[in-house]
Amino acid sequence: MVEVVVAGAIAILAILVWTVKSMFAARRRMAQMRVDFARATALGAEPASLRPHVNLDVCIGTDSCVQSCPEKDVIGLVDGQARLVNPTSCIGHGECMRACPVDAISLVMGSEKRGIDIPLLQSDFQTSVPGIHIAGELGGMGLIYNAMTQGMQCVQAILENPPAPQAGVRQLVIVGAGPAGLAASLSAMEAKLDFVTLDQDSVGGTVLHYPRNKIVMTKPVHLPLYGKIQVTSVRKEALLQVWHDIIEKTGLEVRTGVKVDAVTRKEDGFFSVRTAEGEEIATQRVILAIGRRGTPRKLGIPGEEKEKVAYRLLDADDYRGSRCLVVGGGDAGVEAAIALGEAGATAHLAHRRRVFDRIKAKNQARLDEAVNANKVQLLLEASPKEIHDEEVLLEVGGEPVALANDYVFIFAGGVLPTAFLESAGIEVKRFHGEIYAPANA
Ligand SMILES: Cc1cc2nc3c(=O)[nH]c(=O)nc-3n(C[C@H](O)[C@H](O)[C@H](O)COP(=O)(O)OP(=O)(O)OC[C@H]3O[C@@H](n4cnc5c(N)ncnc54)[C@H](O)[C@@H]3O)c2cc1C
Repeated sequence: MVEVVVAGAIAILAILVWTVKSMFAARRRMAQMRVDFARATALGAEPASLRPHVNLDVCIGTDSCVQSCPEKDVIGLVDGQARLVNPTSCIGHGECMRACPVDAISLVMGSEKRGIDIPLLQSDFQTSVPGIHIAGELGGMGLIYNAMTQGMQCVQAILENPPAPQAGVRQLVIVGAGPAGLAASLSAMEAKLDFVTLDQDSVGGTVLHYPRNKIVMTKPVHLPLYGKIQVTSVRKEALLQVWHDIIEKTGLEVRTGVKVDAVTRKEDGFFSVRTAEGEEIATQRVILAIGRRGTPRKLGIPGEEKEKVAYRLLDADDYRGSRCLVVGGGDAGVEAAIALGEAGATAHLAHRRRVFDRIKAKNQARLDEAVNANKVQLLLEASPKEIHDEEVLLEVGGEPVALANDYVFIFAGGVLPTAFLESAGIEVKRFHGEIYAPANA
């Protein structure tokens, strides 16, 4: 009997200790959220593209958005309401919006300072041109999982009113074989549509151009004819291997090295998809899954056309001992500068602002470490003016600077292929923080 009472008392004590500990931990966390939110507000930090907007008149602080976010401490409760406490780490999953039980969260695109061009889409992924659909990052929602999901949903939407087979005319042409195009192609293959997939490069999309050994974070996804891809954190090379496994097992054919130059509607009502080689493919429907990275944003300065200038870094080890300038204040630029510094290059990082207000907290910590270890030299409030064979001329804090240099890496983001879209008649809108409702949100 005594043993039972003692055991009960110990159990109650343990529960009490656990409860008090949890309460203190929750308090510490809330205090940290408040600090993070104040810091982010002071910095004016904001995510690169898609982000949640919380309607504080509606938010009841359930915490479901915080729990649903796949990133760490991006959204948090401050004074009982949801706030974006770490905006630069937000990559627009949209899970918070889906999890909110009172619809207090909407997704907005761009900001007052930074307009983002997005083609207007309907809920079935159709553009302003009936019959031309868009899936993946081109439509404004990045990430591999989102792109694949949209690729599959886009074909499902087409199948609700499928084009009838016609001799000499494809039912569907899919442009782009990145995650969105690949998933769309598998859905089209499963539905036995008469389709063709074209890519100007190879299968894999942007993933192909990630730096060597990059860890890719994604979510498991079920693909038609293949099954579940069970990866969450995987090296780039392993993910590309999965892509090739899919092609091999399903027998999917992708015409690689075929660039599409234009999509136009002909008088007979069908579309003509014209390739750079001058081939014309007649089709009833088109899915554009061409992403946004194909055309890097340029600086537009003299010397930018030189061979020493690149818009991506595949292997930092190739530049050991070289004098490198990285231009850009986003995650990709910062990661490249750190990789170059660690590989033994002389790495300068030029950023036009005084602070890095768009990078992930983890990258800021890595950058501070690299700067302290003298592996990366920062040039703040800096803008390159001219690129020469042996040097780059910049303006740094209003003063002219000549920097000895072998290679320049520019990470200024990608531009929407606006001319391509507009020539097809697709309407594009610039978002400055307005609500954006991606089709699969
Ligand atoms: C450095 C970096 C790191 C990233 N890390 C991650 C990560 O860890 N996890 C994650 O989920 N996401 C990550 N992303 C984002 C992710 O890669 C993209 O959101 C995703 O690849 C978008 O897929 P998509 O199919 O829409 O477009 P893309 O992958 O860009 O594919 C578009 C395809 O279209 C082709 N194409 C373009 N124009 C034409 C044309 N005119 N004719 C024919 N073909 C054309 C291209 O060659 C390309 O193959 C990262 C992005 C970058 C740049």
